[in-house]
Amino acid sequence: MRSIVIAANWKMNTTPADAGELSRTIASRTIAPGVTRVICPPFVCLAAVRDAIIGEDVGIGAQNVHHELAGAYTGEVSVPMLAGLATWVILGHSERRAQHGETDELIGLKLDRAIEGGLRPILCVGEVLADREAGRETSVVGTQLRGALEGRDPAALASAGLVIAYEPVWAIGTGRNARGADAAAMGDAIRSSLRAIGWGSLADDTPVLYGGSVTSANIGEFLAEPAIDGALVGGASLKPNEMAGIVARAGVTAAARGLAS
Ligand code: PEP
Repeated sequence: MRSIVIAANWKMNTTPADAGELSRTIASRTIAPGVTRVICPPFVCLAAVRDAIIGEDVGIGAQNVHHELAGAYTGEVSVPMLAGLATWVILGHSERRAQHGETDELIGLKLDRAIEGGLRPILCVGEVLADREAGRETSVVGTQLRGALEGRDPAALASAGLVIAYEPVWAIGTGRNARGADAAAMGDAIRSSLRAIGWGSLADDTPVLYGGSVTSANIGEFLAEPAIDGALVGGASLKPNEMAGIVARAGVTAAARGLAS
């Protein structure tokens, strides 16, 4: 049974002075049986969030990690540095692909380090608008998946709890979300791509999230789709009211899918 995951990507927002309080507020207002909650603050806020939500059943994630363990990589953060601070990590976010030139090959190396270090990866994939308009979205996402995952051990990735986040780039931070049916079609396509590279039944056990302008008003459209198992939330994840609504709706889906007990 796949879990329902609501992950908050705070991007480059909050400071150590305010992240703790925000995380505490969100944690206290988003309790829903069967929903896995994750907060991904900036690196420098990880300790503040950890300290603020001790005892809460909320995962903490980094938004990125380097593919080497240590060395001459000025300004970077490696997996061992995250020990005691994070148990999840977002990899391959479209903003990192576009702004930092991250390739599928590099993201694959980051996946290796993440799972060696016991971090649960959220691997982001998604097409740009031109790809969708040309009807290439499935092949673009399939190429991203193959580039990052092919040749890697499906059992190791599945037991690390790999989550795939389908985030159409044109929907991120734009207020223009995909339709639930489009997200579901991509969820099915993602699992087909996994099967095509040898994942077998592990493809069906892998959670697929939708991300892209998710709010409390539209989350229901995505969670109504059996192929979709939650959301990666950016802008709305900084607003406790929004997170309360999103997680409450996810709780309804968790109950309907028999995950809430
Ligand atoms: C994201 O950051 O992954 C994201 C989906 O952002 P937003 O919800 O703001 O579109």
